[in-house]
Amino acid sequence: MSVREEKRDIVIVGAGVGGICAALASARLRRSVLLIEGMKEIGGTGVHSAVSLICSFRDHNGRTINNGIHRELFPQAYGNGKGIFDTEETVPTYDEKELKERYLSLLRAEPLITVWTDHRVTGVMTDGESIVRITVESGGGEPVSVSGGVYLDATADGNLSAMAGASFQIGREEDGKLQSATVTFKMTGFDPSKLLNPRIATWGGIRSLRQELTVHFKQMKEEGGTRNPRPSVLCFPYPDGRGILFNSTAVTNVDPTSPESVANGMKEGTEQAFQLIEAVKRHPAFARSSVEFIAPKLGVREGRRIVGDYVLTAEDCLGARKFEDMVAACAYSLDIHDPLGGGATLVKIGAPGYYHIPYRSLIAKGLKNLLLSSRCISGTHEAHSSYRVMSGVSAIGEAAGTAAALAVWAKADDVRHVPASRIRYVLQAGGQFVEGDVERVTLR
Ligand SMILES: Cc1cc2nc3c(=O)[nH]c(=O)nc-3n(C[C@H](O)[C@H](O)[C@H](O)COP(=O)(O)OP(=O)(O)OC[C@H]3O[C@@H](n4cnc5c(N)ncnc54)[C@H](O)[C@@H]3O)c2cc1C
Repeated sequence: MSVREEKRDIVIVGAGVGGICAALASARLRRSVLLIEGMKEIGGTGVHSAVSLICSFRDHNGRTINNGIHRELFPQAYGNGKGIFDTEETVPTYDEKELKERYLSLLRAEPLITVWTDHRVTGVMTDGESIVRITVESGGGEPVSVSGGVYLDATADGNLSAMAGASFQIGREEDGKLQSATVTFKMTGFDPSKLLNPRIATWGGIRSLRQELTVHFKQMKEEGGTRNPRPSVLCFPYPDGRGILFNSTAVTNVDPTSPESVANGMKEGTEQAFQLIEAVKRHPAFARSSVEFIAPKLGVREGRRIVGDYVLTAEDCLGARKFEDMVAACAYSLDIHDPLGGGATLVKIGAPGYYHIPYRSLIAKGLKNLLLSSRCISGTHEAHSSYRVMSGVSAIGEAAGTAAALAVWAKADDVRHVPASRIRYVLQAGGQFVEGDVERVTLR
C-alpha cells in the first residue's frame, strides 16, 4: 500500500504561540508552510491551559523589546501610546478565547499556510545530520509522510527534536526535577462589593483579593481538605474585570514525556482545582459564584530543553547579556514555580532589563535542517524559566520562522549558513526589535 506524501518548504510541528508565530513569519516571506498540531484545535498552552498574564516585554526604561508578531497577538498591551503596561495600575491580561480567534484570523490571512489539527508527528527519518521526512498520524486515517526544506520544533517539549535524535536536558541540574504543573480554572459571578478592594482589574485589587482568599485556602489546608502544596492563592483578573483565572494548583513530579504521567497530573490538578473552588466559595463575595471552566489541558511549565550550539544560562539572562548573533530578546524575570510545590520565585533581569537570545540557541546540535521554535530552545532550567513565557516564545518563533524561510530561499543545506544579520534585517523590516548589524536581503 502506498503512503500519501506531502511536501512543503517549511514543516512546523506544534501550533502554540511559538509554532504560530513561526508559521506567520515564514509565510510572509512567501514560503509554503505546513503547521501540524496534535490537538483538535490550535493554540497550545496559552489557549488550552488558560494562562492569562501578558508578561513584560519592556526594559527598565519602558522601551519595547518585543515589537513583532507579539504586538499583533496582544494589541491591547501596546495601544497607541505605551499601552496598558503604563498605567502601572492595570493588570495586563488577555482572554484565551479572543487569543484563539486572533490566531485563527492571522493564519487564515496567509494562503501559503496549511494547518492540520488532530494530527500527531509520530516518527522522524534522518539521513546523517538531516531530517528526510516525518510520519504524521491522525485519528483513524492512514499515516502521511511529510517532507520539507526546514523543520521547526514548536512542540514545547522538544518532541520532534528528540525523535530526530537530538540531545536534550530535562529538569534542574541538581535532581532533574521540573517546575510544578497547574490546572487553571475561571470563576465568574462573584460580588466585588463584598471585597476589601473591589477594583480587581488593578494590581492593588488583585493582590488584596489573593490575600483575602488565602485566608480560606489556609484554613482548608489546616483542616486537611486539600493536597495542594502551594502556600497561597495566585489569581489574575480577566480584562473585563468580571472573571478571575486561578493559576493556583501545583502538581509535582509530572514528566511531560510520559502520557501516563501527564494524565495522572491532570487528575491530581483537577482534584486540587475542585478543592480550591470550595475554599474560594467560603468567601462571602464568592458564595454565589460559578466555575466557567476548568482548563482542559494540564498546564506544564517545563519539558525537554534541546541542546543547541549555545546553551543560554541564568547568568546570561540576569547579566542582560548581548550576543553578536541575537535574533530575539526577552525582558521577563526568571520565574520558577517550585518543583517541590511551594510558591514561585521571581528574579528580575539586570539593567537595562532585557537579554539577547542568540541564533545558536535555536539550532539543535548535530542537525542541519531543524530549528527550535518554542520554549524547548537550548538553555538551562533557570534561563528557560524566563523565556518560556509568551512574549519570549513569540519572539523565538518569529525568529525561527524567518530563519527557516531564508534558509529555503538561499537553498542552504544547513540553517547555520543563514547569517544572523540577515535574519535581523527581515525581523526589523517587520517591526521587530533587533540589535546588531543588519545585512540587506533581496528575495527573488
Ligand atoms: C500554568 C501555566 C501558567 C502560565 N502562565 C503564563 C502567563 O501568565 N503568561 C505567559 O506569558 N506565559 C505563561 N505560561 C507559559 C506559556 O504559556 C508557555 O510556556 C507558552 O505558551 C509555550 O508556548 P509554546 O509554543 O512553546 O508551546 P505550546 O503552546 O505548549 O504548544 C506546543 C504545541 O505542540 C503540540 N505538539 C506537541 N507534540 C506534538 C506532536 N508530536 N505532533 C503534533 N503536535 C504536537 C502540542 O499539542 C501543543 O499544542 C504559563 C504556563 C503554564 C503551564
